[in-house]
Amino acid sequence: MNKTLKSFLDKSHIEYETDVALSQKTWIKTGGTCGCWITPHGVTQLTELCRWLYQEKLEFEAVGQTSNIFFHSTCNPAIVVCTTRVNDYSQEGDIVTCGCGTNVMRLSKDLLELGYAGVCGLTSLPGTVASAVVGNAGCFKCSITALLQSLDCLLPDGTIKTYSREELRLSQRSSAFKRGELKGVILSVRLQLEKAANVEEEKRKAERSSQWRKRNQEGPAKNLGSTFAVLKMRKNLRNITAFSTAHIGSKLGIGTYRHLLKQNLLFLYGYHSRLNTYVSDKNVNTFVWRDEQAERMFPIYKEMMNKIYNHAKLEIEERI
Ligand SMILES: Cc1cc2nc3c(=O)[nH]c(=O)nc-3n(C[C@H](O)[C@H](O)[C@H](O)COP(=O)(O)OP(=O)(O)OC[C@H]3O[C@@H](n4cnc5c(N)ncnc54)[C@H](O)[C@@H]3O)c2cc1C
Repeated sequence: MNKTLKSFLDKSHIEYETDVALSQKTWIKTGGTCGCWITPHGVTQLTELCRWLYQEKLEFEAVGQTSNIFFHSTCNPAIVVCTTRVNDYSQEGDIVTCGCGTNVMRLSKDLLELGYAGVCGLTSLPGTVASAVVGNAGCFKCSITALLQSLDCLLPDGTIKTYSREELRLSQRSSAFKRGELKGVILSVRLQLEKAANVEEEKRKAERSSQWRKRNQEGPAKNLGSTFAVLKMRKNLRNITAFSTAHIGSKLGIGTYRHLLKQNLLFLYGYHSRLNTYVSDKNVNTFVWRDEQAERMFPIYKEMMNKIYNHAKLEIEERI
């Protein structure tokens, strides 16, 4: 480990671990070895740390819960800054200011209890608020970016800039940060909230969303939710066959539509024996890092998805 980094962290009382197996830290338990995994507590420590790293020209990556990143076993980053302890938030009127690492589930459950609208769909969304902005994450017609008023970002030159929602040029599961058009570490995020007209109905919606997830999606472990952001099925004979037989099979009670569709697609495209274990039974767009072979299977899965769908664009991020 870089000696000046060690002495800076010790002097600043910032928590860190050296030579960490990323498999102990990342959501899907993958990755190589990280030279220094740093966990600042609070926005002030995060700002001080990242400003110093920029100044020293030491490369680093900021992550939240890593619930959208696949670290390959070949990825051995020197420095990772984990923001999950930058998680305080405060409220002034209808504006809530959140540390970048605030947990979206916790925040949205708290705001729902306080009677706010626009958060009922987020109570089961993994991850941190800054990452939800970077990836324009959303579900059940709710997103952090829909509530976003502005955010503070530490730029590589050490200054802090405030960005409005418009400046993030949001698109489907993406933003100027994700596309690399804006650079820096998001320090805090301000959300503009409105009271819900009917709080009990919002709570019922939250409960329905979480039940829907349980029925139709993999549990949270060993997957990153939807693997691809934009999927348009190609119009070809195999897809039409897979689609219509799954439809008929589900009407006849042979199985669920989603499971039958997955089975049909894997058979018709010739990937069943290799990928059946790794593709979710609940959604063909979810890859499951079930065991050590999964990493080797992931490129094969991407190959299959590109045959089934036009413009299959990854939603998750890969670090190789
Ligand atoms: C079971 C499951 C279900 C999911 N369901 C959904 C869903 O319904 N809808 C949806 O949209 N997503 C879904 N996801 C994906 C995931 O929840 C979101 O992408 C989430 O926003 C990622 O948060 P994170 O903190 O884990 O981000 P990470 O994976 O840690 O990081 C994501 C990106 O943000 C960057 N980043 C993190 N913090 C900062 C910062 N402070 N400043 C600058 N850049 C930063 C990282 O460098 C990285 O590029 C799901 C994931 C799982 C595992």
